[in-house]
Amino acid sequence: MKTVTILGATGSVGTSTLDIIRQAPEAFQVVALTAQSNAAKLAELARAYRAKFAVIGDTSRYAELRDLLAGTGIEVAAGPEALVAAAEMPADCVVAAITGAAGLAPTFAAAGKGRRLALANKECLVAAGDVFMSAIRESGTELVPIDSEHSGAFQLLKDNNTRAVERIILTASGGPFRDWDLDRLATATPEAALKHPKWSMGPKISIDSATLMNKGLELIEAYHLFPVEARQIEVVVHPQSIIHCLVMFQDGSMLAQMSCPDMRIPISVGLAWPERLQSPVERVDLVKLQSLTFEAPDLTRFPALTLAREALERGGTAPAILNAANEVAVEGFLARRLSFLDITRTVATCLNRAEQAGMIKLPQTLEDVLEADGAGRQLARDVIGA
Ligand code: NAD
Ligand code: MG
Repeated sequence: MKTVTILGATGSVGTSTLDIIRQAPEAFQVVALTAQSNAAKLAELARAYRAKFAVIGDTSRYAELRDLLAGTGIEVAAGPEALVAAAEMPADCVVAAITGAAGLAPTFAAAGKGRRLALANKECLVAAGDVFMSAIRESGTELVPIDSEHSGAFQLLKDNNTRAVERIILTASGGPFRDWDLDRLATATPEAALKHPKWSMGPKISIDSATLMNKGLELIEAYHLFPVEARQIEVVVHPQSIIHCLVMFQDGSMLAQMSCPDMRIPISVGLAWPERLQSPVERVDLVKLQSLTFEAPDLTRFPALTLAREALERGGTAPAILNAANEVAVEGFLARRLSFLDITRTVATCLNRAEQAGMIKLPQTLEDVLEADGAGRQLARDVIGA
């Protein structure tokens, strides 16, 4: 029996994780569950999965959660310190599925305990990069990525000589606007951007998938997770989303990881590796598929990929600023204060201003990263005029 804590239990990744646990009740026991504001859903999940600890980030929802869980014996707490306390509770595996840089402090707390961290919160790795990976190494934490492309690379590299890797190729579905020209992209609404053709996900990552910033963040994520240089990581658009990652070795042999686009597969790997869980998810039917197609990403229509690559090459706090500016711009787009194309324009302006103002530094600690995150957010608010 493995004990599991889920940070961000009410979200898309969180509920998919619980779905896997529901189907293997003899294999997993839930320790702590957290959410930001949906007390009703958190209480329902905590009861259903007999959690020991339920934490709500928003302190104004504490009384509601406490009342909903009264008499159950489930301990209840609220606020940022309580999220960190949930992350630090003894558990064999912590699933880090909070969205955005809001997940930094709890994910770091989970990373300091020397057990398994199943990481969905890519923004943490993008913003904190080397600082985060040092914390992982120093604590002896076992990091298993559950972003699908990185889970693919993780599985492909486990039994192979990583020194012989020539290239890692991350695939992108291309998102809902793959075929849209620039004029049409200028008119894209949040409703259209949220309708992902292949994956069902939370709102922030859905918008990132439409701008391709998601793939930009994943490029930075892959750089930190795997022993390759930035120039060895490539992105290819693959609209069917069946191949999630490919690894090319120096002898020209190329391995691909394939599955139907269902997050329960990479999450199962995160929970069970090196074991494999029985999973009811749809199987790939090659004959039905008939063909898999690939194309180069269009960097003119989707400049986010270039911005992310430049931030990675610039190093220091540039990726943290990229990520923070993107989060603020995505919120602005969802609130209809920014157009779709303004998302990446805002990020580009913020990176330029940060460079000109000498704001890009080498972060040493989580506090340095949080400071850069705050500065990036302020830059973006200034640009947007919010
Ligand atoms: P989501 O919006 O569906 O859920 C986010 C969860 O985090 C919720 O439980 C929410 O309550 C919690 N949360 C939000 N803001 C918070 C805050 N300020 N403090 C504490 N908790 C907060 O998001 P998601 O789609 O499940 O994505 C979660 C993470 O996983 C993201 O980093 C995303 O990039 C990554 N990811 C998601 C998918 C996917 O298919 N959804 C795939 C790959 C990676
Ligand atoms: Mg992904």
